[in-house]
Amino acid sequence: MKHNLSQGREIVAIPGPSIIPDRVLSAMHRAMPDIYEGDLTTVIDSVWAWLPEVVQTSGRVFVPIGNGHAAWEMALSNTLSRGDHVLVLNCGRFAAIWAEMAEFNGLTVEVMEAEEGFANEPSALEERLRADVDRKIAAVLTVHVDTATSVRNDVPALRQAIDAAGHPALFMVDCIASMGCERFEMDAWGVDVTIAASQKGMMTPPGLGLVWANEKALAAHESADLRTRYWDWTYRSEDGPYYLRFCGTPPVSHLFGLAEALAMMAEEGWEARWERHRVLADGVRAAVDAWSTPGGIGFIAQREDQRSDSVTSVTTGSIDAVELRRLCRQQMGVTLGLGIGSDESTSFRIGHMGHVNAPAILGVLGSIETALTSMGAPLGSSGVQAATAALSQ
Ligand SMILES: *Cc1c(COP(=O)(O)O)cnc(C)c1O
Repeated sequence: MKHNLSQGREIVAIPGPSIIPDRVLSAMHRAMPDIYEGDLTTVIDSVWAWLPEVVQTSGRVFVPIGNGHAAWEMALSNTLSRGDHVLVLNCGRFAAIWAEMAEFNGLTVEVMEAEEGFANEPSALEERLRADVDRKIAAVLTVHVDTATSVRNDVPALRQAIDAAGHPALFMVDCIASMGCERFEMDAWGVDVTIAASQKGMMTPPGLGLVWANEKALAAHESADLRTRYWDWTYRSEDGPYYLRFCGTPPVSHLFGLAEALAMMAEEGWEARWERHRVLADGVRAAVDAWSTPGGIGFIAQREDQRSDSVTSVTTGSIDAVELRRLCRQQMGVTLGLGIGSDESTSFRIGHMGHVNAPAILGVLGSIETALTSMGAPLGSSGVQAATAALSQ
């Protein structure tokens, strides 16, 4: 590419942090308020009223100041005891990192790997739990969407596997990459602990973890010995003064931002929001499919019905993904996600989560196609044309 076309509004198409709406940024841009009464307490009440609805639960919500890792730690430390056995279902990279944390924190960890490029098999889970005759496994940990492979697990099917084995383990699901983008029904799907964070589909800057717990998880909390004061659910009880919910000063600006993001989600409506993500993801998938060639572009997630609606991981074969990302960023103003898990020169990721619309996605796809064309990369056919055809349906 001879020309630099990057001056203009920068677009991030990484799987988090994602594009933050101007409404959210404006809501955050304000002087520090009284933290004991007034606007802030009203905003905290509204956030607490909305959050259970986001995952459709009658359980409780906790909001640690921190990223997704903080939410992971809060979930583990509040429900488990040193030496407890946890079974981790990994279908990429992220459940395995959670497993490393669990091990470091004193849990006994067993990881079940999915076949590469596929979701975790419910039947394998059922078989493993049936074999656990002494009921040693205290919790099953997994992700809804793995952000490295962009594979989506079938959460209700995993729950059914646990029930079919008649196993009492807690079921904890990391929805950091999918929350606010894909359907998730915590109570109906039988999830005991749900984990998310502010910076992906929730359209708020990084800095807030989100953890939802049902009755079963709250009961496990009573006897959990990994509890520490900072993360403790009891100490952060919503009946206490506001500062206890955050174990200290509230994350003021983030709360104003999250409240605005939740208002935007409520205005759009959940069904419409999930549908928008699905249709835009169909556009991305149509493009990747059109570009694909043997030895060139292809999907990392092997099964169509296991491809997430919030992120798409792409293998590039012989095409240099480092150069592709460099051209997109430096020459066109689009930041693509780094490939994780394999060599970064042979894969990349497209985030399509949260505040994204048709021009954002078509712009990203058009920029990728422009860069690929300028690199002389082998392409099956035009991804932009395929995406516009998909979106026009
Ligand atoms: C992003 C992500 C994480 C890590 O979140 P941080 O905010 O970086 O700690 C964990 N799990 C999944 C599935 C993610 O997408």
